[in-house]
Amino acid sequence: MQVNGQRYALPAPGRPVVGFCMDGTSQDYIDAAIQAGCMPNWKGILGDPEALSFAAFVQRNAQAQLSRGTHALVTSAYPTFTNPNNVGIMTGLPPSQHGISGNYYVDDEDKPVIMTSAKLIRANSIFAALARAGVKVTIITVKDKLKTLLSHELDPELVRSGNVRCISVENLSRANTESLGVELGFDAGSSQSFETALNYAASVSKDLSEGRRAPDPYHPHASSYAIRLGTRLALDAMRNEPQGRSLFYITTTDYIQHAHPPGEPEANALMQELDQAIGQLHKAGAIVGMTADHGMNDKSGFNGEPRVVYLSDELQTRCGLVDGKTARVILPITDPYVAHHAALGGCGFVKLFKNASAGAQPDLQHIMKTLRDIPGIYTVVGAQDAAKAFDLPIDRIGDFVVFGDSQTALGSSRTFHAPQLEEAMNQRRQGGKFRLRSHGSMDEATVPMFVNRALNPEVARKLTTGKGRNWDLYAILLNGIHPDATPATY
Ligand SMILES: [Zn+2]
Repeated sequence: MQVNGQRYALPAPGRPVVGFCMDGTSQDYIDAAIQAGCMPNWKGILGDPEALSFAAFVQRNAQAQLSRGTHALVTSAYPTFTNPNNVGIMTGLPPSQHGISGNYYVDDEDKPVIMTSAKLIRANSIFAALARAGVKVTIITVKDKLKTLLSHELDPELVRSGNVRCISVENLSRANTESLGVELGFDAGSSQSFETALNYAASVSKDLSEGRRAPDPYHPHASSYAIRLGTRLALDAMRNEPQGRSLFYITTTDYIQHAHPPGEPEANALMQELDQAIGQLHKAGAIVGMTADHGMNDKSGFNGEPRVVYLSDELQTRCGLVDGKTARVILPITDPYVAHHAALGGCGFVKLFKNASAGAQPDLQHIMKTLRDIPGIYTVVGAQDAAKAFDLPIDRIGDFVVFGDSQTALGSSRTFHAPQLEEAMNQRRQGGKFRLRSHGSMDEATVPMFVNRALNPEVARKLTTGKGRNWDLYAILLNGIHPDATPATY
């Protein structure tokens, strides 16, 4: 089967392919959880997690290697946000080709265009193509917005018949008794499958949602719920349809990672949840892969104050540009309509107004150079160069791209972000542990890639030489497994 110029093999009968995208999970989270003894399955499958250098890899006994899983660090898509990366995994392509560069961009009339609509995606979905080829596809997200993007090209007929399921935990949390079966992708017409749906929701909810049907998307257990639900559906598919072809994509939210650094009990518990899912699926015989959409870094100073460069303020004081009049600062992490949700991320786009009535056209080179000198800004790159270097869609990144350094977030103006930061700092004054943790910069681009099987030499070489990307997840899981690989026993 051919999607976006790349060949994909169908999942083998009775052997589901299950991919996890753990939102905001850098390798540090995994390492800390392994240290704390929370990831026995991950360790067991890899066999020898120390032997991961290239030299060690080639020296491994070839036979032993074939009964081990694979682990590597790969690079995510830029900017290191959720939507560009999830759409990357769905299409197998970078943002330059799929078109999604963040949550929104502004058009030539300075109108914000929200990129949470699947209409703006410029490439084909691997999931939709597999579904049309007869594979039973299940997609599970936490937030409904991401479900909308990942529903791209899914055939409504296949959705109705239950051969394609696209489920968000957010929708489940709001579902009433009548709509629950539909939300879970069970055939609403049959009373038996309706009972099954209720049982599913009840069993997965246990311990995770305080008696509710499903946790709301900002509940600390929302990601765990998505992982458990997806795992349960995959295990059931193997039991109920032993010869069926099925594929799963389970993508979480980074609520935990924004609030907790690696090694904190909440973070370890989430990694343990992933590990248990991997262990169960591995033992049942599934092909299991895991990657992340981006990592996460602390963006606060030693005193706990968030480190932020306010781009609108800087452009005004240093370059005389007024946000909304002569320039527009776009923070691709935010939703432009919801001011109080204005999050701070590591990447910003700036668009200069071409017909600024204020006389002379702004001097792009001078503005970029001025911004580069500000402490906390890692680099500023013109749109042409940024599109080339970072695989970005040139028409959706403004005139230039600003990256913060690993410890600094970018905002628009201090006044715009003040209410949110004030609330956070209040929490801190009352003894809370708040520190700003975020992503979006180049420093959150290194993410893990885990597969529970040995890979064919070509793919293994790509991964062990640092050339792997997270959007390769399904190319690896569907085409890259070594023909003689056997599941690790431990
Ligand atoms: Zn994310």
